[in-house]
Amino acid sequence: MTQIPDSPLAARFVASPNHGPRRGLGSVNCLILHYTGMATGAAALDLLVDPASEVSAHYLIWEDGRIDQLVAEDRRAWHAGLGSWKGEHDLNSASIGIEIVNAGHDAGLPPFPDGQIEATIALARDIGSRWTIPLEQVLAHSDVAPLRKRDPGEAFPWDALWRSGVGHWVPPAPPTGAPLFLAQEEGPPVRALQAMLALYGYGAEISGVYDRLTRAVVTAFQRHFRPERIDGEADESTVATLRALIEGLK
Ligand SMILES: [Zn+2]
Repeated sequence: MTQIPDSPLAARFVASPNHGPRRGLGSVNCLILHYTGMATGAAALDLLVDPASEVSAHYLIWEDGRIDQLVAEDRRAWHAGLGSWKGEHDLNSASIGIEIVNAGHDAGLPPFPDGQIEATIALARDIGSRWTIPLEQVLAHSDVAPLRKRDPGEAFPWDALWRSGVGHWVPPAPPTGAPLFLAQEEGPPVRALQAMLALYGYGAEISGVYDRLTRAVVTAFQRHFRPERIDGEADESTVATLRALIEGLK
């Protein structure tokens, strides 16, 4: 165990070769959370340090709260792939990535142990003290890549993070009501929803059509902000929760 540089937290350093220089301005303004989605943490660690995999993250957090650092924070770790948030597409250059050991959807969404969440909160706060990361840019992988990714999943306790000062969240409106739009429905109300999603940061295209991308973005939004029902349908609760989030932006 060693200290994370400029941090009170300790981590085991397990070097991954899967990183490069940050591109563009190189300034970090996002924190992206993942689950490993593999049967064991050991299998995930093997993958994250294997040069053939070409994937990594800055940190890996085990079920018991132990932290491994795989890539130095000033390097561009390869965790997010292609994505979009507030017009940024090279999320790897703009973010720190944390992989959280959890077998994920394929294993029926096992809960995240308290000690693991406590470590995630401590590390996120610590990273936030070194970089300028707005609360609303503590994101799920699924937020930035809604067509490809569903991690860390709707079992992840975003509310607990928020209560500890990490991330942006509002209590969701109860999931009642029918879908507001049919598949492929077209018109100004769809456009207004897409504009709200894009304003918050999502890579929603303002096409005016309730299409596959819109459904994927709504699904990602629900995983993070309205986990009681994940169906990709824009209902009153989804829209009210989105509106409350936007109103809460400072
Ligand atoms: Zn991920």
